[in-house]
Amino acid sequence: MTDSSQERDRQRIGELREQIQYHNNLYYAQDTPEITDDQWDALFQELKDLEEKYPELVTPDSPTQTVGAAAPAGGLPKVRHEARMMSLDKALRPEEINEFEARTKRFLGSGELKFHTMPKFDGLAIELIYDHGRLTLAATRGDGVTGENVTANALNISDIPRHLRTGDDLFSGADFPAHLTVRGEVYMEKEDFQRLNQSREEDGLSLFANPRNAAAGALRQLDPSITRSRSLKFFAYGLADPQATGFESYGQVMAALKTWGFKVESSEFTISDQDLTGVLKVFHGLEAMRENLPYEIDGLVITIENLALWSRLGSTARAPRYAMAAKFKPRLAETKVRDIDVQVGRTGILTPVARLEPVAVGGVTVSNATLHNQDELERKDVRPGDTVLVRRAGEVIPEVVEVVLEKRPVGLEPYKFPSQCPVCHTEAVRRAGEAAWRCPNPWCPAQVRERFAHFGGKNSLNIMGLGDSLVERLLADNLVKIPTDIYRLTLDQLKVLPRFGEKSAQNLLMELEKSKTASLWRFIHGLGIRHVGERTSQILAERFKSLKALEAASEEELTSLNDVGPEVAYSLEEFFNNPLNAAFLADLTGDELGIRPTVEEPAAGAAAPLSGQKFVLTGTMANYTRAEAKSRIQALGGQVMSSVSKETDYVVAGEAAGSKLTKAEALGLKILSEDDFTKLLAAI
Ligand SMILES: [Zn+2]
Repeated sequence: MTDSSQERDRQRIGELREQIQYHNNLYYAQDTPEITDDQWDALFQELKDLEEKYPELVTPDSPTQTVGAAAPAGGLPKVRHEARMMSLDKALRPEEINEFEARTKRFLGSGELKFHTMPKFDGLAIELIYDHGRLTLAATRGDGVTGENVTANALNISDIPRHLRTGDDLFSGADFPAHLTVRGEVYMEKEDFQRLNQSREEDGLSLFANPRNAAAGALRQLDPSITRSRSLKFFAYGLADPQATGFESYGQVMAALKTWGFKVESSEFTISDQDLTGVLKVFHGLEAMRENLPYEIDGLVITIENLALWSRLGSTARAPRYAMAAKFKPRLAETKVRDIDVQVGRTGILTPVARLEPVAVGGVTVSNATLHNQDELERKDVRPGDTVLVRRAGEVIPEVVEVVLEKRPVGLEPYKFPSQCPVCHTEAVRRAGEAAWRCPNPWCPAQVRERFAHFGGKNSLNIMGLGDSLVERLLADNLVKIPTDIYRLTLDQLKVLPRFGEKSAQNLLMELEKSKTASLWRFIHGLGIRHVGERTSQILAERFKSLKALEAASEEELTSLNDVGPEVAYSLEEFFNNPLNAAFLADLTGDELGIRPTVEEPAAGAAAPLSGQKFVLTGTMANYTRAEAKSRIQALGGQVMSSVSKETDYVVAGEAAGSKLTKAEALGLKILSEDDFTKLLAAI
């Protein structure tokens, strides 16, 4: 080997470590990865290969010797794990499954091996600690040694039991251990992910790249009510110290978890006691069927069944030797960018979209891919005429992963993001702190059209027959100007429209009549206020019961609600203060059109045991900051108000409580000490 090639490898090792650490930080600490898992795996494999070639260059801080990011991002309190939470060694080629078996046999010196298989969930690993059967701590993996305390959020995931169930005669009558550390994966089902992104798109919010990012973002919220609104799921897959519990096989651990009340993966691909042939059969079977599972997976976890062998095999610095993750081939495809278009959304956001030569990715033909925003587009430097790799992210939104630079034609000019709205040619604006450029013209035809579509859309008033082409026709003919104008349309006006006979005109009028008594939340959502999605609309409808009351609501009343932050309150204020919306609101609340929204009674559910209860916090508590106490109450459906009134249900009084306590006493309200408050939370 020549000195110069060795020097090159040494340099490459340094580069790879830096790159991997950079991407680890984005992935683990910020939930905003810039590269796909497959690209990360390739970098990691290259580093591992080079370090095997030069063992003397391996350092303890190399990413191959550690898991994930250096430390989680600030915000949530840190937790030190009792035992390291390791990740698994990955196999990128199926042949490595055979190598794993051969290596393990060599290490053990003999014997037949039996394996347990389970799909590898593409979610977020967490640890749950139960003391005497009660959940006392939930923590993310973080760097494997220190994670983040997400207990309040975990309590909002219905798959996570708060109390363990007692097993009948489990292992000679043994109950669950007094102290139990369970590990598992928090994930989001594909359908929930799609729904979340769809409603975010409609509300002008940025989209999540894949279900794992959405799940991670939801779990690592400072506000537990956001976790609750995102329908997260959980599968348990192991214990921190299974040998200590007296189990003999991994299959027994899984059976016990199920008995104790955990949800475990139970597809035909989760099987105990298999030989190598069986494992390979499951691997190929799962790869062929991966699209059919309701959640995202990226491979198969293969674990040695016999727990006694786990102790003998032990772990490397980074991963255990008794299990591995065999990954599937990436679902990438190469195609050409025909052009880049900029779309104008309902709130004026300009989104660049790559128009592609149609290509099949994972069984679906893709001809458009999002480029998210100007920064993303420039970072990837996609140009019309480029050859690009396209990936279906979380099987939903196709996205451009990277440009294949070797195939870029000579002289291809960089794409220039337009400085004007492509539809109305108004100068675009970009607010400080926002990634998006927007068209600020509220009468921009593209925005107006999208507002109509949103108003009549499936998640708003659901007006059948009010399609895009009809809306465009009505706008072009000046028959409507604001969305409520559709209620002024007459049979005579409608029946003469092209491709619109008397019958369809009558049907549309019937639909319109029906929509006048739709649920109030549908009207609120239909207003198209930024940051006010379906769920927020439901909360607002439940609380205020009319558009007039919502319009009159103070900022304090708004922010005291679960799920309503200052950003939403500001958007509402902005909307109601905008004179352009005056006619729209007058129509919705006035007598002329006969709009009478239906107000539904709130659904009483176990998830919101404090629903409708108003709390006031005063003084300082030893074990809760004000923000923590507030988020615990809100997570259980309660409201936190800033001042005491006759309507207050509970006043939580800590040390040195002042005038609020005096007033509460004068009004004869229910007063809770910190102890009472803790008991109230524990009783729920
Ligand atoms: Zn415009």
